[in-house]
Amino acid sequence: AFDNALPITNIDSVCPYCGVGCSITYQKQGNSIVKADGRESPVNHGRLCVKGRYGWDYTMHPQRLTKPLIRREENYPKGPLSAEVKSSLSGKKKKPGGIVTDENVYAAFREATWEEALDLVASKLTAIRSEHGNNALAGFGSAKCSNEEAYLFQKLIRAGFGTNNVDHCTRLCHASSVAALMETIGSGAVTNVFADVENSAVCLITGSNATANHPVAATFMKAAVDHGTKLIIVDPRDHDLTRYATHFAQINPGSDVAFYNGVMHCLIRDGLIDNEYIDEFTEGFEDLKQLVLNEWSPEAASQICGIEPEQIEAIAQTIGEATPNGKSGSMLIFWGMGISQHTHGTDNARCLISLCLLTGNIGKPGSGLHPLRGQNNVQGASDAGLIPMVFPDYQSVTNDEIRSKFERSWGVQLDPNPGLTVVEIMRGALARSIRGMYIMGENPFLSDPNANKVRKGLSSLDFLVVQDIFLTETAEFADVILPASSFFEKTGTYTNTDRRVQLGRKVLDSPGEARVDWEIICEIARRMGLPMDYEDVSSVFDEFASLTESYAKLSHQALGSTGKLWPCEDAENSDGEQILFGDGFPTPNKRAQFVPCRFLPAKELPDEDYPLVLTTGRVLEHWHTGSMTRRSDALDAIEPVAFAALNPEDLANYQLEDGELIRVASRRGEIELQVRSDYSVEEGTIFIPFHFREASANILTIDELDPYGKIPEFKFCAVRIESAAKA
Ligand code: SF4
Repeated sequence: AFDNALPITNIDSVCPYCGVGCSITYQKQGNSIVKADGRESPVNHGRLCVKGRYGWDYTMHPQRLTKPLIRREENYPKGPLSAEVKSSLSGKKKKPGGIVTDENVYAAFREATWEEALDLVASKLTAIRSEHGNNALAGFGSAKCSNEEAYLFQKLIRAGFGTNNVDHCTRLCHASSVAALMETIGSGAVTNVFADVENSAVCLITGSNATANHPVAATFMKAAVDHGTKLIIVDPRDHDLTRYATHFAQINPGSDVAFYNGVMHCLIRDGLIDNEYIDEFTEGFEDLKQLVLNEWSPEAASQICGIEPEQIEAIAQTIGEATPNGKSGSMLIFWGMGISQHTHGTDNARCLISLCLLTGNIGKPGSGLHPLRGQNNVQGASDAGLIPMVFPDYQSVTNDEIRSKFERSWGVQLDPNPGLTVVEIMRGALARSIRGMYIMGENPFLSDPNANKVRKGLSSLDFLVVQDIFLTETAEFADVILPASSFFEKTGTYTNTDRRVQLGRKVLDSPGEARVDWEIICEIARRMGLPMDYEDVSSVFDEFASLTESYAKLSHQALGSTGKLWPCEDAENSDGEQILFGDGFPTPNKRAQFVPCRFLPAKELPDEDYPLVLTTGRVLEHWHTGSMTRRSDALDAIEPVAFAALNPEDLANYQLEDGELIRVASRRGEIELQVRSDYSVEEGTIFIPFHFREASANILTIDELDPYGKIPEFKFCAVRIESAAKA
């Protein structure tokens, strides 16, 4: 309840949701936020989307965890969505203002003191390590936590648990993009900030519904079009931005490699490439040239991607006009999960990188590569080392010199072998090679593919500790639950999609006995024999920065009110590097590598039994597994129920009514939810957002992985549908 007699205080911070990282001033009265306003910064110029403006009330929700919980001795079944719970929830419209939670789950736990809970966590994890070895333990950190928390979490797993089995949701997001970027240009970073689109002759957006997922960044793209930038959209979905497009190619799902090989064929054939740039800054062009000229005529590409050869030619012409080879221009490519979340996601990203390289569109204003990062700190959590193969700043765990540096700093011997990734860890749990897990701020039961397999994996663990702000679906499997602080209750740094490191400042006090995450990590580390003593969160940042090149010159103090882009050589006088790689790449010979790609189909194609393609994603009002946005009154009121979007033609073919309850089944499970008529979805395809516990899209998805990025194929699997009224 607000007390109007109390004074209002303004606190400058940032948004807790997407990778755009908008700057916000929160108005606070007592221990409540009462208003959020966008403030001036290079990121958002005061603009906010609906999540940033209204989506902060989850932090004050009555379901917040306020005390540590320990699973009772009695044999309560682990995990949500048992058959009975599922049937009671399916498709129902819930009350606005609160997520559906099976209240019975609280009965499985008893309250405990922090001492008891932390001692139990440390003793159980230590016992598993002694009995089964270091690699029987694993941890999932979170892209919602700060850089400091991500750094300490991976340090605990590596130096305290003794394993590199540490990962986070970047594995579900841009792992394939990063794999391709590291392989080709030697860095996973975006080359240009998104606002640089105002300098682009051509903007190519592919596999990204930017208005829903990066709404404020999309306003910059629209403004660029108003000022003459030509917009090319390549996507199986006809989303909002296509209204602004010069060209819209609605390709068949999963056919990106064929389409881009066709475009590159036209560019090379017609000489619309930058030979000078290719000679000076790249290698491997001849192999790419041979492949696309010999095998990927626009006609051949059209057979697979479904775009008419003439349109492929026209798009190539528009891109060709943006080559600097005797012509003025520039091209900036943005991409999202539609590119990365495939078993050939790395190939998709390799094609986009080749397209930029052969047209010389890197290292100058208005051009380059920008994989739009999803969560508010997925860039930072990756920078801070929440990745099984690399220490902070992408330094390989297999490199002896680098490992020695971290061993000297942390005072322990470290494992020289890369650890397991998200889905591999879950498979390990199922196979009983992983016995104990620490999950901080992630909700894999809803976010990971093939949820019924995840259920078995989480249920098979000997011990699971979950640290979160709500009793999430994953916490329902836990042996111990530690109540953490929300974004608004702690200070720390967050790195946005542009590489901008910003300070999120504490606005509120935590409820009850909830504690800040970095202190909880230190408590567990100390109890497991790894000393972790920091004066405050800025000293954690200093230790992290001292072990990296990218953050080396940064500190909390240096970030100012709107942050700094890494790398930043002179934080006092500079905003950091807006454009990277103007004079070569961070590869051994300073050259970028072309990697030609052959087309590979998705792992599970539609057939007679499962004739539709399922693609999953997000909606504007909700965020990932909904643990925050579904507890925000305003956001939940706009989009309160689970739904599936289907083309009106398919709706008619299946004799379904808009709004009817349908059953969607794959080879892995089935869900029931409302169907919506939606022209943006291609015929033969069904789109389901993955935010909804009561109809989890990931019950249906397939857990096949891209071999390089180890990312699952969320954007393609085969399903069938029928009216739920049928028995
Ligand atoms: Fe927050 Fe992203 Fe919306 Fe900005 S665009 S207000 S960062 S959710």
